[in-house]
Amino acid sequence: MATEKQSHNQTERCQHRGSAHTEAFARCARTQPQQPGVYRSGPQHSHLFICKPCTIRPRSVRASRLNGANARSGQSGHKLPHTYTDTQTDAIMSLTVELFDLPAHQFRVFWGASGSMWQSLWDRFLDFTGDNPLALWTVGSYVYTSLIYWSIGLAYTLLDVTGRPAVLRRYKVQPGTNEPVDPARLRTVIRQVLFNQFCTGLPLLFLMYYLLPGQTRDTIRQLPTFVTVVWQLGVCILIEEVMFYYSHRLLHDGRIYRYIHKRHHEWTAPIAITAMYAHPVENVLSNLLPIAVGVWTTGCHISVAWLWFTLAISNTLHVHSGYHLPLLPSPEQHDYHHLKFNQCYGVLGVLDWLHGTSEMFHRSKQAKRDYIMTSLEPVRETHPDQ
Ligand SMILES: [Zn+2]
Ligand SMILES: [Zn+2]
Repeated sequence: MATEKQSHNQTERCQHRGSAHTEAFARCARTQPQQPGVYRSGPQHSHLFICKPCTIRPRSVRASRLNGANARSGQSGHKLPHTYTDTQTDAIMSLTVELFDLPAHQFRVFWGASGSMWQSLWDRFLDFTGDNPLALWTVGSYVYTSLIYWSIGLAYTLLDVTGRPAVLRRYKVQPGTNEPVDPARLRTVIRQVLFNQFCTGLPLLFLMYYLLPGQTRDTIRQLPTFVTVVWQLGVCILIEEVMFYYSHRLLHDGRIYRYIHKRHHEWTAPIAITAMYAHPVENVLSNLLPIAVGVWTTGCHISVAWLWFTLAISNTLHVHSGYHLPLLPSPEQHDYHHLKFNQCYGVLGVLDWLHGTSEMFHRSKQAKRDYIMTSLEPVRETHPDQ
């Protein structure tokens, strides 16, 4: 890691909300001082100076604006960027702006000033692992995604094998199935998933690395802004919905179904780790590429890619789990797909709605149970079969 030591000028310009005031305590919000007055930064680091009042006391600064008082300007050299009159109109306008600006401001404080905490944690993580982009994007991603898959997957599998804690059996989507799960079938699934992860997942990670924009590979140390994370995750989710839906429908075509996708549908009542129990061709086409293309398209930072992998993997494990648990994604649609074969091909359900491939589902009892539970009462008891 290239480190750079420098002392910041005591009166840097504060970049908070585009203001022009100066502050004796201006500091870079993206770094943590390693020792007083000396900051550490990565090769791609650009300094973001936030003055102390803007970082620590945003509410009092806003209040002083609304009152037209430059209360803090006399203290610690903080100059407010604008002059406010005491007229009612200005007060209302200021209040309106503040109300709409508040969430954005809080996020900025969270990801900007507090972002120094995330940046510091990320720096410490990279100091431990090393910051070689090739190793992180390939082996690092392989180890990380495998850990996510098997930690969540094995927790569900333990439940399937032991049937304990017994209270969770009330949350089964198809009661009586896999209680307990057949050990021979379970071993087959574990072998296939491990094969798929090593023989298709790892090579695809290498391919993904070499297709990434150079800038993405070079900016490992600098975390992205909050807004960047949000729009890149949004694009990844949309791309996955489109690619998974159409590739999944293709795999259901009568001419090729029995050669590839039939293996995944051996489980009419799936369990969590059957999420990647599939023919290797299906695993690349329908499981991995819809996730990887979002990363290529957005050229996102590796931390965003790992966040995206976490969301995608945990979601597919939950929807295959066979349990509809409180506060977790609803498995009803995909479980119904395994039960009926020709309904609910997508992830979000938007394309199923557009193509009319979820009409039977929407007339079913399962559709009434298709929501994120916020109470402990199982959906099958809230909406019984009869
Ligand atoms: Zn499935
Ligand atoms: Zn299918």
